[in-house]
Amino acid sequence: MMVFIEELERDVEGIREYYRSGKTKEASWRILQLKGLLLFLKEKEEDIFKALKQDLGKHHCEAYRDEAGTLIKSINYALSNMKQWMSSKKAKLPAVALLSSAELVPEPLGLVLIFSSWNFPIGLSLEPLIGAIASGNTMVLKPSELAPASSSLLANALPLYLDNKAIRIIEGGQEVGQQLLQQKWDKIFFTGSARVGQMVMTAAAKHLTPVTLELGGKCPAIIDSFSWSWDKEVAANRIIGAKYGSCAGQACIAIDYLLVEKKFSPTLVDLLKVRIENMFGENPKASNSMARIINKQHFFRLKNLLNDPAVKDSIVYGGSMDEENLFIEPTILLDPPLEAGIMRDEIFGPLLPIITLNKIEDGINFINSRPKALTIYAFTNNETLRRRMVSETSSGSLVFNDALIQYAADSLPFGGIGESGMGKYHGKFSFDVFSHHKAVVRRSFLTDFWFRFPPWNNQKLLL
Ligand code: NAD
Repeated sequence: MMVFIEELERDVEGIREYYRSGKTKEASWRILQLKGLLLFLKEKEEDIFKALKQDLGKHHCEAYRDEAGTLIKSINYALSNMKQWMSSKKAKLPAVALLSSAELVPEPLGLVLIFSSWNFPIGLSLEPLIGAIASGNTMVLKPSELAPASSSLLANALPLYLDNKAIRIIEGGQEVGQQLLQQKWDKIFFTGSARVGQMVMTAAAKHLTPVTLELGGKCPAIIDSFSWSWDKEVAANRIIGAKYGSCAGQACIAIDYLLVEKKFSPTLVDLLKVRIENMFGENPKASNSMARIINKQHFFRLKNLLNDPAVKDSIVYGGSMDEENLFIEPTILLDPPLEAGIMRDEIFGPLLPIITLNKIEDGINFINSRPKALTIYAFTNNETLRRRMVSETSSGSLVFNDALIQYAADSLPFGGIGESGMGKYHGKFSFDVFSHHKAVVRRSFLTDFWFRFPPWNNQKLLL
């Protein structure tokens, strides 16, 4: 490890030195790197699909929709807007600064460290990289060791497309993570758990390094008692697609649990069962459209959530597991105990508890009595309820009548609040998260107001 740390320190110093050369600040450099990323995604598409299949059993359609395709969209958006983002913006000054001008000049932060997680191992590694490149930084990316095929593809193939003096990919687990955290960075961008997020913040405090923490938690979804059958069907389709059709529920913005009025719950359960069978067949284990659990440790974590006898009794659909294939059937639970692990911890898997309420409006208090979510979902046509949710709840994002779609929007900030994280990215927000907007003021020597300088008299100031 000593050898590694010395090598790492030399590496980091080398990248910092390269930043000082100013090369990465040039628009042409940024464009070249973004185009390199695009080429990587296009030329290595098959390898990406293979890696995501190997790590998580993702179907190539899912892999394209959630990772490669989303990244291509984001890179093209950055390429189309980057010059405008890089331009300085005029700012107004108060009258006291007469005959002056001011502007905000975006500058890169310097050398940034990016940690990503295993559930979207390509997407969550490269999405922040796009922002770090577009804003002219040098960077070190550490993908998650829990998705080894994806991590190795990034470490071995991506450097062929990028300027390796400025962009380094370092593979490794906790130990490497700890060694990286000991270095001095100009920014740490972390995607992962709140537990490790705390370690990141502690390490960053030593150098007063700013951090962005993209964390998780439980994302609730309120489901209103729809009377229109079309709305019910579409809602059920979107809930099932989002919960089981994107990394088998191992997503930070996956619906964690549903809140529904008691009288509507039997209808909802029936609708959800039908949608599961439509999407994954009667034997979902045989389906090629559902991802697998990342590893045994997470498989047993999920198994333990279900093993609590009171929780087991609440299963109304699914519940079967295959350790060998790291497969867990889409599972629905009705009213598991609120104090059980499944309702306390982030589920991060294909288990979907439904909690029944007397009135749908009670959902607001239910949500507000828990830590702030990364996303709150609500499926409802009730405008009064929607307005109340906007004004009375707090979360990273709030989505009506769909799920996961917010991740793909370049125009929306993506990030949490409270326990679900701090800071935001995507689109222009990714540029800003890796930039400093420097205030630049230009004064003329021509004149000054009398009251700027002592000695003062008794005249009243009119500012
Ligand atoms: P994690 O915190 O275990 O790992 C994240 C990163 O930190 C990995 O690169 C890992 O190697 C590194 N790491 C782990 N332990 C470390 C240590 N002791 N010291 C230094 N580095 C360490 O998280 P995970 O299991 O990869 O991801 C799951 C969590 O991430 C969930 O809570 C999920 O909600 C959240 N998540 C959030 C987002 C988001 O965009 N907000 C996206 C995906 C996942």
